[in-house]
Amino acid sequence: SSLPLVKRILEGEIDEFGDKYTAIIETNDGHYVFTGGPVRDDDGSLVGVMLVGSRLDTLFKDIKLQSLADVVVLDLEGDFILSTLPESEEGTSMLQLDSDDVVSTMTTPFMREFTMFGRDYTALYAPMVIRHEDAGIMAVVLPSEFIVSTLATSRNNFSGIFALGTISVIALGYILAQHIAIPILRLRRMSSAVASGDLEQESGIDRSDEIGDLATSFDTMTLKLRERTEEAARLYAEAIQRNKDLADANARIQSTQAQLIQSEKLASVGQLTAGIVHDVKNPLAVIKGIAEELAEELEAEGYAREGLETIRESASKANTIVSDLLKFARQSTPDMQRRDMRETIYSVVRLTEYLARKGNVEVVTDLPDTAVLVRYDAQQIEQVLINMTTNAVQAMPEGGTLVFSLQELDESIEMKIEDSGVGIPSDHLDRIFDPFFTTKPEGEGTGLGLSVSYGIIARHGGHIEVDSELDHGTIFTISLPKTLEGLDEQDESWIDIEEQHVKSARSR
Ligand code: ADP
Ligand code: MG
Repeated sequence: SSLPLVKRILEGEIDEFGDKYTAIIETNDGHYVFTGGPVRDDDGSLVGVMLVGSRLDTLFKDIKLQSLADVVVLDLEGDFILSTLPESEEGTSMLQLDSDDVVSTMTTPFMREFTMFGRDYTALYAPMVIRHEDAGIMAVVLPSEFIVSTLATSRNNFSGIFALGTISVIALGYILAQHIAIPILRLRRMSSAVASGDLEQESGIDRSDEIGDLATSFDTMTLKLRERTEEAARLYAEAIQRNKDLADANARIQSTQAQLIQSEKLASVGQLTAGIVHDVKNPLAVIKGIAEELAEELEAEGYAREGLETIRESASKANTIVSDLLKFARQSTPDMQRRDMRETIYSVVRLTEYLARKGNVEVVTDLPDTAVLVRYDAQQIEQVLINMTTNAVQAMPEGGTLVFSLQELDESIEMKIEDSGVGIPSDHLDRIFDPFFTTKPEGEGTGLGLSVSYGIIARHGGHIEVDSELDHGTIFTISLPKTLEGLDEQDESWIDIEEQHVKSARSR
């Protein structure tokens, strides 16, 4: 009962927290925190007090472990009770508080610094409250540098690190943008421009790193693409041109084929006739001769004389036909000379002048001012033109106009014989070149003129075309190549003829 704790319980004191109390009590075994409560008998009358104690030492070792700081406990007078600090030479006196400090500690926590083991410590004192009552004073002790440096580190260092981190992130972002993102975005823009067909793109990035390599490859690729595209466009144009050429060639082949068929027809007829012409010509000459002789010698009169005359004329007519046939059949190689085609045309006009005048036909020539030089057989071409003139005059029974024109093209010359005659019905057009095709009355036409002409022009490597309109007229177009391939020609003879020609042109 000398202990205030026990005394209070024995006196039956009960406050708002109950009838149990605590206190720190020093025993022979050190300081304990005791909790005491009344012990009553069955009647409820107080018979004693029971105390349960925890050794402070053990208690505060636990607290030290939990708080990671050393703990000091003083009693309410400020005297040292225990500490978790190791024992030191300096002793425990510096941990104690004087009465003033105790008073202030009870209202606000109180800080104090001291040195122990050659190290600065800071202690924070505060009342130790057990069961809402001040049971003593407790201090938490930590090395000063730890407290200070922790605070400093935590505030300054962290804000420093944070600022540095932020700046580094921004800087890194800027560098990445400058070095990687911007060039890559540029390349991306470029590639979409290239994809949409604009091949005039260039990256303008000149660097020696991977981005630079990428940009260079991209530029090379764009350049190659541009070249390929141009090449493709060129090839396309070329293909179109070739197609056109091919179509032209096809058309030429078709007309050549038609001419070939015609030539074949002529050749077979020619072979046939060549064999018989000679045999027929001689008997005809004999008939004609004897008819003339008889007429003279017999001095025949009347019916006999007329008969002999008819025999002579008929033989002569037959002879003309046979001669024509012979010309047609004689597929001789033309005697090619380089000459001015205008000369041949003028010569034909002169030779047919009488015929034209008689037929009331006006002949017009539309020829170039300069020489039109071609290699051809003048006699044969003359024959062709005379044939055509004769046909034209015969096609204009009421008279009309006949126009000869001549034109020099790149690789050929073109002659046109145009009349204002009756024209040719379309169903005759592909037969007029056939041998013996004629629309003329007996005796006037043999039907050989055009087929002979056709053969001559074909042997010159040229061709004849006809264009006619009924009741309006007919145009025959003769084309002759300027140079003949496949014909035996010696370069020197060429030069000779050319020189001769130049000379004759000069003297003229
Ligand atoms: P021919 O003159 O002996 O009849 P050709 O071979 O010269 O034989 O002509 C064949 C046919 O072609 C002629 O009978 C005629 O019907 C037609 N012909 C030729 N040239 C002309 C022309 N200029 N105008 C109209 N028809 C023509
Ligand atoms: Mg004729």
